[in-house]
Amino acid sequence: MIGQMMQQPLQVSSLLRHAERHHGEQWVVSRRVEGDIHRYTYRDLARRARQLAKAMGALGVLPGQRVGTLAWNGYRHLELYYAVSGSGAVLHTLNPRLHVDQLVWIAEHAQDQVLCFDKTFLPIVEAVADRLKGVRHFVLMTDREHMPSESAIPHLLCYEELMAAQDDHFEWPALDENTASSLCYTSGTTGNPKGVLYSHRSTLLHTLASALPDSLNLSGRDTILPVVPMFHVNAWGLPYSACMVGAKLVFPGPGLDGKSLYELFESEGVTLSAGVPTVWQGLLSHVQAQGLRFSTMNRTVIGGSACPPSMMEMFEDTYGVQVIHAWGMTELSPIGTVGVLKAEQLAWPKEQRRAALAKQGRSPFGIDMKIIDAQGDELPWDGKSAGDLLVRGAWVVERYFGLDASPLENSWFPTGDVATIDAQGFMNITDRSKDVIKSGGEWIGSIDLENIAMAHPAVAMAACIAARHPKWDERPLLIVTLKPGAELSREAMLNFFEGRIAKWWTPDDVVFVDAIPLGATGKMLKHQLRDKFQNHLLPQG
Ligand code: AMP
Repeated sequence: MIGQMMQQPLQVSSLLRHAERHHGEQWVVSRRVEGDIHRYTYRDLARRARQLAKAMGALGVLPGQRVGTLAWNGYRHLELYYAVSGSGAVLHTLNPRLHVDQLVWIAEHAQDQVLCFDKTFLPIVEAVADRLKGVRHFVLMTDREHMPSESAIPHLLCYEELMAAQDDHFEWPALDENTASSLCYTSGTTGNPKGVLYSHRSTLLHTLASALPDSLNLSGRDTILPVVPMFHVNAWGLPYSACMVGAKLVFPGPGLDGKSLYELFESEGVTLSAGVPTVWQGLLSHVQAQGLRFSTMNRTVIGGSACPPSMMEMFEDTYGVQVIHAWGMTELSPIGTVGVLKAEQLAWPKEQRRAALAKQGRSPFGIDMKIIDAQGDELPWDGKSAGDLLVRGAWVVERYFGLDASPLENSWFPTGDVATIDAQGFMNITDRSKDVIKSGGEWIGSIDLENIAMAHPAVAMAACIAARHPKWDERPLLIVTLKPGAELSREAMLNFFEGRIAKWWTPDDVVFVDAIPLGATGKMLKHQLRDKFQNHLLPQG
């Protein structure tokens, strides 16, 4: 027997429709690339998203086609989120911090038809425009007044002009809820980045789960400032969940330093923010140095890499801000676990509560997880047994975009993280089975760096490992063996990276060794190197 309730497909456009009808007067405030503060309401957002959907149609964007963005967190980026996905096309957010060669590779792989970008990124786009063979239109996300008088990009389009040419008479089409809505590439540990293609359904279910009290605990009484970029995993879903609950949204644009963020927190009455630990380091040092307080912020979500317990304590004890420690992945849309205590844990002594909250947290409904040993057998949830972490759920990747091979193992997604799970269901990441390096919350591909080093004529073998760093959590450290009789200085090795990779990917130091340990199948045993050199970049003594 079939239930007799309405069939309402889960669609991204329904979030915007709800925000317009039920929270139409709520504010969206943005620090613009142009330098000023822009403010409008969800009603304005919805109207302009409809105009933009028509503008994309006028550019010839068809359902399913990809529209790329290279943009900061701001209202125009938000309009693209809704206009592109809502009309049945696919929003492809590109990470401007990647090396240009990777950007070109990703945009070409995704077959982006249109590229919309902030003025900050005009020089990058001008440099690569002729290599982006598939891109038919380049749109600068600004108004006529701020358009350059000339550009290396022929027929550079102006976002506000495209918008102004359309009225807002547009009905969001009814879509199958499994239609693709957005695309985000993750950096592969081997080879090229992989695309994760989210659907309307997965996005909506993730949105619902992420707002729950035991998740990010979002409500219409919140003012949310996502520091986490909209170009990486949809800013942890906040552009969707804020609309769903009717929260005020505040976008920092390019101003991600402690001072700029603090000013926005205070002037806009921000109650909740979200970002990687490195951002909070900058904010906390500013606040400490100036002797400031947070007058409205009461909680902050920290994830992307492990939140140091000292940071958690500082936020809570000194500033009265609750830290919500979350773990996720591009492949998980991204939320996998959130560190929120259960009722029984509230009665625990402070130190024990702290220790629980320093873990990565527990899964919301919709995500299931398990840890397994090398034989594939499930390990107990005793807080001690560490194994490979696997997950499954309605917002977990099934296949990568354009790749045939399934990443799943018996219908579970192997995360590449090694973890314990305790009796309360709190997961704790103890290690990463992948060898990538995470600097300030951003991946650095160790194999890419090794490949470059190996291209130097004096180098016999190179391993790049994550070394602990006081500011960036981790930075790449290069370990090199030289060919017999060859000579190479540290400086010459580091100079060799210039122009071959984004500058911030350059290793912080080079260590020359006689031999790099190899395993039985000829693979470098990087964990041995890490054991030996992981403190190499920390102050000695
Ligand atoms: P990405 O797909 O770039 O978001 O990276 C996902 C990876 O980041 C995970 O597989 C973890 O290795 C790491 N990660 C994310 N959140 C945390 C966290 N709270 N603690 C430790 N590692 C994390």
